[in-house]
Amino acid sequence: MSDFETHLRWGIATHSVLVAIVVTTYLVGVSPLGALALAMATLPITLAGALFPDLDHPSSIPHRYGAHGCPVLAGALALAISLRYQPAVIETLGRVTGQPSAFLGGGLVASLAWATWLGTWRLFPILRPSHRTVTHRLSTGIVVALCIGASVSLLLGADGPIRTSVRAVSLAASATFLLGFLSHLSADGLHHDYATRLHALVTSHD
Ligand SMILES: [Zn+2]
Repeated sequence: MSDFETHLRWGIATHSVLVAIVVTTYLVGVSPLGALALAMATLPITLAGALFPDLDHPSSIPHRYGAHGCPVLAGALALAISLRYQPAVIETLGRVTGQPSAFLGGGLVASLAWATWLGTWRLFPILRPSHRTVTHRLSTGIVVALCIGASVSLLLGADGPIRTSVRAVSLAASATFLLGFLSHLSADGLHHDYATRLHALVTSHD
């Protein structure tokens, strides 16, 4: 197993390559300045992706910090998204109950955030899979990356069609998390497994 520092280095190196590519495309006039700013700003998300798979190892740094940090992050995210849509929640409650429901809506938002924090805190140690199983699968990385993109869309979006800027930020968040995740699999040497499986898939039709 590669250690924490190795995964951090792989994450930084991978993101540096991304930034170099975006800088080049910006200088030749293919991509806008916003893309460069986005590439610079998403380093923490790449690093999160690079460290995420080792949440499954009880003595790893990601697991030790994740046990405390993930519930707080999940609760804060639930609170931020709920507050963003609180007027819609209050309006829906008012329509259902036939009365002004500002207090009930506030209570619902607070309860949702609290329940998310408590649920994540209680389930985190219980649901920890064996090392190098679920959290080290490409499919898991894709699903988590999409969830991150969806969360960013909910945080920044509004009613109606998604704005171009929100779409760009959401896609960048998903893509950089996945990039970091792939750097972790490569550092662990798991890309050999995927290469072998891909080779077997291709040659099985010969
Ligand atoms: Zn690992």
